[in-house]
Amino acid sequence: MKLSIKCGLLAFILGTGFAVHQIKEERVENKSAVKVESKERWANPQNALNEAFGIIKSDSISRVIYDPVFEQTELYVRSKLEAIGAEQQTIENYLTKNKDSALGNHYMNTVSFFRYTGDNEKRPVFVREKFFKDPDTKGRGDLISALRHEEVHAKEESEGYELSNRRLKSDEIVPLLREKMLRVENVYIIGEFDAYTTQFEAALTEKEPPSTGTLKNTKQKAYSFLFQIESAINMGTLTSIEKDHARTKLRKHKKAIQSLKKMYK
Ligand SMILES: [Zn+2]
Repeated sequence: MKLSIKCGLLAFILGTGFAVHQIKEERVENKSAVKVESKERWANPQNALNEAFGIIKSDSISRVIYDPVFEQTELYVRSKLEAIGAEQQTIENYLTKNKDSALGNHYMNTVSFFRYTGDNEKRPVFVREKFFKDPDTKGRGDLISALRHEEVHAKEESEGYELSNRRLKSDEIVPLLREKMLRVENVYIIGEFDAYTTQFEAALTEKEPPSTGTLKNTKQKAYSFLFQIESAINMGTLTSIEKDHARTKLRKHKKAIQSLKKMYK
């Protein structure tokens, strides 16, 4: 759910294999007892977000902002980019890309700027109207679950991208991107794997768990990003630094990976 350049190309890697796994899991779930889950009306989305934010006790998110018309996101993006002297055209391009993504299926996001990664500042999270309209956003458990996901992105942005022996910060990231030793699409895939898998792990022990739909989507996404990372490692398409970043995350979620593989294989 993070705003950055999306991995359209890499989605191809999923291929038919993943579709088959999905069908298999649906069949299993259909056999289980039907659980009726009613959907809240969300009279005050900001209050609901504040409550969920209070529950997750975040170390890396500053505020969770309900931003249905993209106004707050735009102000934030402009202020961050103007502060580093970005040209107006660059700012407009960034905003267009972010807006397109927000109008698509990115309902909640932590904006990422490589120039700020590792600055140890907390990050705001912006939430779209679509998030509350989504049939799977049934109750507070779904808000908590989504915030567990954003907490992972906010932590990476604030502390830097996790490697085996250190965290990658802006001063290293910017030259690595320029030299193509680090590629945005791979940072995205690894970050989403980490975020969805953390969200899945948390859902299993949460006092207020997510809805069946949210949990199912979380597992599928976690598995799909895992599949993309493992395929890239096997094909040898990651650079050494990307491989280190990916393997650090694979080690972090070793147990959850075993569960995911049992579910989908
Ligand atoms: Zn995400």
